[in-house]
Amino acid sequence: MTRSQPTANIHSFESLATLDGKGIRYGIFFVGCPLRCAYCHNPDTWSGEGQRFTVDELAKKAVRYKPYFGKDGGVTLSGGEVLVQSAFVAAFEKKMKKEGIGVALDTSGAVPLTDEVKAALGGAETVILDLKFWDDEHYRKYCKGGIKNVLDTLDYCEKKRVPVWIRTVVVPGINDTEECMDRYADVVRGYDCIERYQLLAFHTMGFSKYEKLGIENPLAGTPAMDRARLDELEKYLDERRKK
Ligand code: SF4
Repeated sequence: MTRSQPTANIHSFESLATLDGKGIRYGIFFVGCPLRCAYCHNPDTWSGEGQRFTVDELAKKAVRYKPYFGKDGGVTLSGGEVLVQSAFVAAFEKKMKKEGIGVALDTSGAVPLTDEVKAALGGAETVILDLKFWDDEHYRKYCKGGIKNVLDTLDYCEKKRVPVWIRTVVVPGINDTEECMDRYADVVRGYDCIERYQLLAFHTMGFSKYEKLGIENPLAGTPAMDRARLDELEKYLDERRKK
């Protein structure tokens, strides 16, 4: 039956999560990522073979949680980088739409803006977009990728009026100053599609994965981001964005 359909390579699932999007979410984590962020806490999603699912099989899993979603909740597709598998994502969104379930995409914006990526972005109820750094130089240094695709993604969401939440992980000693916040505010100024801008605290919970995978951890020894300081920076950023 459905096995002739294309399949997605899935790393894992998270039931009834509340962090990645509005309301109660069913999180689906895709395998594959073109970036190598120094602070990545999911290096186990970068590559490899996870579980294979067709659109119908994955939809069946998600629909089971529909009674919990309420008015605002739905499915969040994350990774890794979900848009590496953008054709599948666009097909899955269509299927979810028929079921009356909204899909949020949690993306780094690192994938070039192909027609398939555009279809996936356009089919999302919300795009949760990482803005890791404010310029190409820092992207290259800390993520092994550039900023262009991220800005193209943001421009496309603006054009198509797709609601965007911007997210930035704040790492001690790398981007934890008011000057850095000024730069982030400059990048996002003027975009009407941006509904929220969240700062996330760097944490060290992913360190053990690097050891287990035998990968060098570029931030070994870096402490977790202090929550109180993060709150200060978030307030500062909010004020700067109003100017
Ligand atoms: S984009 Fe996300 S999954 Fe990919 S390396 Fe960066 S933090 Fe890790």
